[in-house]
Amino acid sequence: MLLIECPWCGPRPESDYTYGGEAHIVRPPQPEACSDEAWGDYLFMRRNPRGPHREQWWHSAGCRRWFNVERDTVSYRITAVYKIGGQPETGGK
Ligand SMILES: [Zn+2]
Repeated sequence: MLLIECPWCGPRPESDYTYGGEAHIVRPPQPEACSDEAWGDYLFMRRNPRGPHREQWWHSAGCRRWFNVERDTVSYRITAVYKIGGQPETGGK
């Protein structure tokens, strides 16, 4: 089982969390000005990298806060945990 360190609660088992998908997806500031293609990209298109990936996790069985994790999709190794709005210290993407 994956052990994830919540920034507020410390290390907890993966079963305490809910996966929230790719991190750092920014809503277009003027959705009405977007083309259908740009809006569709915002809603549905996500990276599926082999290697480091930044993703959102929700501590649903704990403090119920959202935060970001940088995790290697091959090894499942977590290289950074950081709060929403921040950036990881590792510098990967
Ligand atoms: Zn927590």
